[in-house]
Amino acid sequence: MTLIDPRPSLVLFDLDDTLCDYASARWLRLRIAFDRALGLLPDRPDVDLDRLARESIEIHPHGVDHFDELLARHGASHAESAAAAKEWYRTNRFYGLRLFDDALETLRTVRDAVPNRRIGIITNGPTETQHAKIDLLAIRPLFDFILVSEEFGCAKPDARIFEEALRLGDADPATSVFIGDSLEFDMAGARNAGMRGVWVNRHHHPRPETSHAPEHVVADLAQVRKLLG
Ligand SMILES: [Mg+2]
Repeated sequence: MTLIDPRPSLVLFDLDDTLCDYASARWLRLRIAFDRALGLLPDRPDVDLDRLARESIEIHPHGVDHFDELLARHGASHAESAAAAKEWYRTNRFYGLRLFDDALETLRTVRDAVPNRRIGIITNGPTETQHAKIDLLAIRPLFDFILVSEEFGCAKPDARIFEEALRLGDADPATSVFIGDSLEFDMAGARNAGMRGVWVNRHHHPRPETSHAPEHVVADLAQVRKLLG
């Protein structure tokens, strides 16, 4: 793995599952919420928490509205216990959320590697939630700008949010790069805006069709430093 040449003047990052481990935190929260729900039942059914978490994500990746239906499916239909699960899940919305181990080192290294290089975030999601997450993770000072889809008015992979990043970063697509875990939103969006993509493929998914393949594929943020450090 060698440095991207010419070295990009603008480096853009996705947030969830690129810089912070949202998937692990969600899994943990779902398990705890369902464990609490089952614990409130007079006769706790023998249901695997991992299975509940997996099915919950399949029904809906976010939110709690489907908890009643899911618990009922497993013989745990009890309004009070479902309500307790929902309440815990909502109240502890950032429980267990952490940056990946080398996220800070990567951000600092990438930022300092090139004089006047700018770095930004483009994240899809609700304005309040995404900003609260960024503050909880204490990474705001590391970025020149942060774009949240709801706040801006359109979401990745729409080219407009990438073009806004180019404007804020005073850069051309040719000298910009986007780093993210999603082929559908991050890599497709970067391509729509004419910029290079670095796909963070932590779970070793197969590479997509050649015509849609991102320019670079890395397994973690340490490899991002090798491309951009
Ligand atoms: Mg992501």
